[in-house]
Amino acid sequence: MRRDIAIDGPSGSGKTSVGSRVASDVGLMLVDSGLLYRVFTAAYAERFPSAVSLQRDRMLEILERCISYEARGAVLFDGRVPGLSLHDPKVDRLVSPVSAVPEVRAAVNRELRRIAEMHDVVMVGRDIGTTVLPSAFLKVFITADPDVRAQRRVVQLERLGAPVDYGAVLSNIRERDAIDSSREDSPLRCTEDYVKLDNSADGPDGVVQAILSEYRRRLEHVV
Ligand code: C5P
Repeated sequence: MRRDIAIDGPSGSGKTSVGSRVASDVGLMLVDSGLLYRVFTAAYAERFPSAVSLQRDRMLEILERCISYEARGAVLFDGRVPGLSLHDPKVDRLVSPVSAVPEVRAAVNRELRRIAEMHDVVMVGRDIGTTVLPSAFLKVFITADPDVRAQRRVVQLERLGAPVDYGAVLSNIRERDAIDSSREDSPLRCTEDYVKLDNSADGPDGVVQAILSEYRRRLEHVV
């Protein structure tokens, strides 16, 4: 029996740190699907350094090369780690329009499903429970207040040594939410089969514990 856990939610809701703690607790592989969208975006920004917006035909050229997700979370584009940081502000700006291109989604989903065929996973993203792993054992949707999400992103960027403007971070988060929720191909949405959890509080302990107890409760019912 498969035991995959799908964790979806908007940018900065803390899904990845929650997912990482859940994965190590239950002994499953963590897959952060956002990194695959970011690697295509970084490759696009490297190939067309002056691009300020997305041009679809240029994007399709990038898709001719392959991406691969390595066991420890490194993502390779055409066999190497991209030169541009996956969390560069340029990547943040372009990643949601890039992710709305159906051919990009198809390429990422192929790689995600290839990994999930080999391992049970905790997979984190926007459409994991609705599209990538629709029959996941447990689906969790994590939300958090936009101001809290922006604050978290500021702390993350400061750790990476990037110059940070709170207003710009908040507006990027709102813009990405809008694109991710309104695109035609597999938008971010919380369907009724999700367990919905709010991660606005300081520290993710409560959310992590809620996921672990629901997971164990379900395991007891199937064994
Ligand atoms: O999770 P993260 O913020 O790193 O994801 C970056 C972007 O990738 C998101 O804003 C979203 O546009 C896109 N994404 C997606 N579907 C996923 C994961 C990420 O569209 N499953």
